[in-house]
Amino acid sequence: MVAESTVRVRFAPSPTGRPHLGNMRTALFNWLFARSRGGAFVLRIEDTDQTRRIEGAVEAIYESLRWLGLDWDEGPDVGGPYGPYIQSERLPLYQEWARYLVAHDKAYYCYCSSERLEQMRAEQLTRGVPPRYDRRCRNLTAEERRALEAQGIQPVIRFKTPLSGRTEYTDLLLGKRQVRNATLDDFILLKSDGFPTYHLANIVDDHFMRITHVMRADEWLPSLPRHILLYKAFGWEPPAFIHLPLIVNKERKKLSKRDGDMELDWYRRQGYLPEAVANFLALMGWTPGTGTELMTLDEMVQSFSLERLSRSPAVFDMERLAWFNRQHLKRRPLSEVAALCRPYLQEAFGVETAWRPDCGFPDPEAWLSALVEAVYEEIACLSEIPGAVRFLFEDIVMELEAQQVLAEPAAGVVLAEFDQRLRRLADLHPASVQQMLADLRGALKASHGLAGRQVMFPLRAALTGRLHGPQLHLIIALLGRERCLERVARVRNVLAERR
Ligand code: GLU
Repeated sequence: MVAESTVRVRFAPSPTGRPHLGNMRTALFNWLFARSRGGAFVLRIEDTDQTRRIEGAVEAIYESLRWLGLDWDEGPDVGGPYGPYIQSERLPLYQEWARYLVAHDKAYYCYCSSERLEQMRAEQLTRGVPPRYDRRCRNLTAEERRALEAQGIQPVIRFKTPLSGRTEYTDLLLGKRQVRNATLDDFILLKSDGFPTYHLANIVDDHFMRITHVMRADEWLPSLPRHILLYKAFGWEPPAFIHLPLIVNKERKKLSKRDGDMELDWYRRQGYLPEAVANFLALMGWTPGTGTELMTLDEMVQSFSLERLSRSPAVFDMERLAWFNRQHLKRRPLSEVAALCRPYLQEAFGVETAWRPDCGFPDPEAWLSALVEAVYEEIACLSEIPGAVRFLFEDIVMELEAQQVLAEPAAGVVLAEFDQRLRRLADLHPASVQQMLADLRGALKASHGLAGRQVMFPLRAALTGRLHGPQLHLIIALLGRERCLERVARVRNVLAERR
């Protein structure tokens, strides 16, 4: 058994694209496990498939981890005792261990051309059998090998999978399983260009980096028997394996683009907070069992345990993410959220603030904070802010239902009375405005028998062009006296013309 203090886990992404939510969930679970056990979280870049390598992908991995708040103890940029941590810098090691397996009769050189393999594959597919290498080179004599080498063919090294028997493998979540070895392939360990395949590099690295627990996506489970066979062939003790549950959509089907974007960057750009994304990801496959789901990273570290990982597929639900985001937005100081909103407002309106000296807030900072507070409930992420506050920055466009409300006979009276009271109001502090509106409602009920909504709807319509949105007193305090009077006057003119 591994001692508590020696937990070592790794996150081993391939730099083949933009980091997506699935990768980040794997990283997060490994990080949480390491941090909750006082262990080490290792970052290893698995770039053995050079054809799929993408420029800037490694940097994107660093950035994404940092954005989520996940730090690593060892990795390409920070070093560590078991480096290098980029597989393309460890080629001699893989070559040495591939040759070791050949020398111990656990692997062999294969000289088959890619044309032959391709043809074989095509034939197998037409026959409806799973494509698999026919093991032609498995039993070459020394002489045959020499002849092939004399032709200058660069061989690959293949694993000599046992032809009979079974391989047992254990996943901490799924328990013990086994496969018949006859169903497995003589998979490639080392390619002819000297690069290892994923299987070889992954096992050699996990061994030499002293990884104690491998936690990774469910899609790697089918590789596990091969990995176990490799550990056996090397005579090494395998780590513990945990395959995280699949992520599915609300209909329990495979995720598609329609269920939401999968790139982490998209969420970042849309203005989801990192702590909300982390919280959301952590609960895809894990339950804290503390009665609360809303957690910071620190709180998750406190309650993380492998025992509470789930076996059933994790459901990806954007509404849930929106909920987490709203909750985490509320947990942040208002001034901070306001600062985060600025770029979105700037981009949408060319300015960050529409503060006026005659509004209810002493300066643009206070105005922005009030704006954020006013629309919290309406938005899922910060990029939705401009849409929710457009009426503060631009001339309003009257929605149809707002026009209908203003066409009612009471509207003219309401707007006239509001105009009078707003002019007389000493200041537009939200509390003062709220009091003024209460008085206005009282007065119009007494004089004209108007119900509350008959007063509030025309005002809302005239000031914002809509019937929903932030509370009316906040709208007025945010707009400022002049803008409110102008908007009301404009509507009153239209009403007057109609008469
Ligand atoms: N490089 C693999 C990936 O991109 C790592 C799988 C594993 O953790 O073993 O997911």
